[in-house]
Amino acid sequence: MPTFWILAGVLTACSFFKSKQESAKHDINPAPRAAFRAARLTPTTFVLSEYNDVYREHPQIYVKIIPAARTILIIDTGCGGATVDPDIEMTSLRRYIEEVKLDCNGGAALNEVKNTEYVVVLSHCHYDHILGVEQFRDSPILVSSHSPSFVSKSNLPTHSLCESLGIETPTYIPTLVPHQHTIHSRTRVSLGVSILHTPGHTPDELAVYDAAEKMLYVGDSLYEEEAIIFPKEGSIVEWKTSIEYLIAFVKGENQTGQVRINSGHRTVCQPALEVLDAAKEFMEDVVSGRVPVRERVTVRGEENVVYQQKGGRFALRCPERLVLAARKMSEV
Ligand SMILES: [Zn+2]
Repeated sequence: MPTFWILAGVLTACSFFKSKQESAKHDINPAPRAAFRAARLTPTTFVLSEYNDVYREHPQIYVKIIPAARTILIIDTGCGGATVDPDIEMTSLRRYIEEVKLDCNGGAALNEVKNTEYVVVLSHCHYDHILGVEQFRDSPILVSSHSPSFVSKSNLPTHSLCESLGIETPTYIPTLVPHQHTIHSRTRVSLGVSILHTPGHTPDELAVYDAAEKMLYVGDSLYEEEAIIFPKEGSIVEWKTSIEYLIAFVKGENQTGQVRINSGHRTVCQPALEVLDAAKEFMEDVVSGRVPVRERVTVRGEENVVYQQKGGRFALRCPERLVLAARKMSEV
């Protein structure tokens, strides 16, 4: 289950968390009636898990507090609190951040004083990352500038998948930011965090890198123990280029301490280089035909193929043409 996995991953991987194992037993938010659970990952950063959403996506939202900039950085906004549990009263991500006192934050809410401003980064425009974004329309909302038309107002209903799910597409004004953009507070104080364009899962997929804490956030580019999904707008060819970029990037950063990787689902605080290398190897096995098709399913009117690695660490679901295109490219 995701919650167990998160806790297990954090306890074994994060040095900060490791030193706090006793208190960590209480860090999965015990507050009742909230659609989110929180755990501390580093001295400044928390993972919020939307653990019982109606879409069964269980998205992970990352919250980094930067007191020097009087800013809280939020990476993704989840499914908007839509929960299967009728007893849940608090479905607002913003209220959770501002009102729920957390053991893992010394008994305080993440934005206790409410005078801290927000900067939101959307790892990409899929619904399970943007349905809570309207709560932060008074804040900068940063998205990738790699493919402006992909995230345009007219294309967002389709590309967010809201249209195919029959749900309302959130309305917000994104700020499109370039590759290697450094994020600043509204008062122009650097947050020490940068944006990396990593198209593949979608054209607007991005990664976020926190240099001081050596934490890499990769959205849906990859995760473990659950099928990595490419929608019809995805590209395995572009994904491979992005993963190779991240591998080179992490190798450079690893020279001064190990970078940890965090995903939009499942994977939290794991050694980045090992996870990236392993995911790339799995994808190469799929593209070369070494992994058999496990299942065929129809998604948004198109036949998708499902692959699963022996042992189940990595799996993939995507339109078959994406695999065939990558195979053709690898043969050139
Ligand atoms: Zn996605």
